[in-house]
Amino acid sequence: MCRNYSDCERNQKKKWKGFQSNYTWAAGFIIVLLVLITLCVCITVLTKRKTNPPDDIEFEVPSYNFSFLTRAQWNARPPIETTRLSTPVPYVVIHHSYQPPACNNTNQCILAMRSMQNYHMDVQRWWDIGYNFAIGGNEAYEGRGWNNLGAHALHFNSVSIGICLIGDWSFSLPTAEDLLIAQQLIDAGVALGYVSPDYKLIGHRQVRETECPGNALFKEIQNWAHYSPFPSTHEDLLQVKELSKSVKEVLRKKAMKVNETDSVQNAQDIQKH
Ligand SMILES: [Zn+2]
Repeated sequence: MCRNYSDCERNQKKKWKGFQSNYTWAAGFIIVLLVLITLCVCITVLTKRKTNPPDDIEFEVPSYNFSFLTRAQWNARPPIETTRLSTPVPYVVIHHSYQPPACNNTNQCILAMRSMQNYHMDVQRWWDIGYNFAIGGNEAYEGRGWNNLGAHALHFNSVSIGICLIGDWSFSLPTAEDLLIAQQLIDAGVALGYVSPDYKLIGHRQVRETECPGNALFKEIQNWAHYSPFPSTHEDLLQVKELSKSVKEVLRKKAMKVNETDSVQNAQDIQKH
């Protein structure tokens, strides 16, 4: 109720001011609420991203039923470059390192892995340690792994995984445990889909003029499942059906060149690893 016009005007102004102040409070409250909701959504999305990495095999760490050291665990240098290996591969190639000699415990084997990587990268000028995996001291070590093309068997890397048993196995054998780990690693490769279930197992000397993997180890692997006597020497490579046309072209050109040079010189160059 108002007694006169000016009273009424005063009352209406008071009401309007009250309405204005309530409105400001409500708007402020809504803004704060919206900010809080946005923050919650952001935190949820970021946490989810951290706990659920993209569905890519690179992020899956396979578990093995033997001791396995990843590149990070042996303090590997990062590769200069990598090339994706087409899997499952039809071949597994067994090597020995010749040098460094056999290692008996984790510390020794880590040093062996690092010296091989340094030699391959700094002297051979390869992108990384050449082997896909190495084994020593009753443990397996990740080299280039399952997904990356190796540099362990010239002209044969694109169709194989290379496994090196650290040491010189010309006259003696690695430990029974190391030999078992090599076979379990191959079985894991088959189970994970990186190695063909009907893969062929060979020694390095079957695809290159080399003494690798040493006479004793070469004799041993001939008793393993999937051992294949073919190819028997690098001269059989042109008959390997899994090798690409481009690799065979390189092999043909190389064969022509070798025939033109002194073969005695080549015989002197037989490598050890
Ligand atoms: Zn070799």
